[in-house]
Amino acid sequence: MAELRFSNLSKQFEGSARPALAAVDASIASGEFIALLGPSGCGKTTLLRLTAGFEKPSAGRISLGGEVMADETHFVPAEAREIGIVFQSYALWPHKTVAQNVSFPLEVRRVSRAERDRRVAEALALTGLRDFAARMPAQLSGGQRQRVALARCLVFEPRAMLLDEPLANLDLALRSSMQEVFRAFHRRIGATMLYVTHDQGEALALADRIAVMESGRIRQFAAPEVLYREPADCFVAGFVGDGAVIPVRATGESMPDGTIIEVLGQRHAVRARCAAPSHVSIRPENVVIRDSGPLRGRVVGQTYLGGRFRLQVELGGETLVAYATRRARLGEALGLSIEDAWAFHDPESET
Ligand code: ADP
Ligand code: MG
Repeated sequence: MAELRFSNLSKQFEGSARPALAAVDASIASGEFIALLGPSGCGKTTLLRLTAGFEKPSAGRISLGGEVMADETHFVPAEAREIGIVFQSYALWPHKTVAQNVSFPLEVRRVSRAERDRRVAEALALTGLRDFAARMPAQLSGGQRQRVALARCLVFEPRAMLLDEPLANLDLALRSSMQEVFRAFHRRIGATMLYVTHDQGEALALADRIAVMESGRIRQFAAPEVLYREPADCFVAGFVGDGAVIPVRATGESMPDGTIIEVLGQRHAVRARCAAPSHVSIRPENVVIRDSGPLRGRVVGQTYLGGRFRLQVELGGETLVAYATRRARLGEALGLSIEDAWAFHDPESET
């Protein structure tokens, strides 16, 4: 497994006005599990296709294990990159058995029969398919087919694995059990993995680090907890996790690891890394409902989440999100306090 690096990587498709990727810079350590997270059309699949060697970059460089895969002068073709790919559609050979499907990449590489049998058996065991070796793809469930695709990818010991929304076709229950399969698989073989998803829950559950993408750019690349607690801008704050993003006025006063802001007509001490934040991210678990709270709001929306209620509480023209253990009444007045919040400067707030 090898380190993967993108330097100033751009892709502009012919005839399109906007670049699909715009100057992406990122380094992925050997053995890291990375999620690419972002809305449809933000460039996730394009980044995977460039990494796999199915497309050439318009500018910039991709390197793998210190070797250049693509830049202005070099282009290593897909079949020479030794990168494994799993797509949303399984792309299995319908007339080959499970074992023959998994064996195929080794036949292409002219691996000996004995070695092939050993590695196929190992790949099937790793993906929990030992008892399905002789089945045809049509005799398998969606989750089992996706595991065959995974086995077929890991059998040739790729230098990196790319997964493009591999669970998007599966139902909710199967998705979460397959997430466990991917996690266990990653723990066992320690592969460098680049996992594309538009599902933030999946990204938060699976990845060591998440690159949040929007309009061909990486907005923030960080560990799940960091993205959630300390979003870099309004897009990340709104896209990852629940809660409110509210404009604030900086008071110019700071404190260790934070700053004093005015939000909702009150002064608050919040966590921040900049002196003049423009916005604050307030997560639901940090909004405490209590009569003595300094803020007063009115319940304008309510959703039962199972075990607790998600309340939307309006105050001063803004809407906070809070969790409650009992059902509220729409229009009910509540006392609130904000126990923790993260303030940041959004670059787009200047325009
Ligand atoms: P995602 O996987 O995040 O949904 P894509 O990488 O597929 O996004 O697409 C990013 C942008 O590039 C979109 O605007 C899409 O329409 C455009 N795009 C992707 N592939 C091509 C192509 N082959 N030709 C022209 N435009 C493309
Ligand atoms: Mg895509």
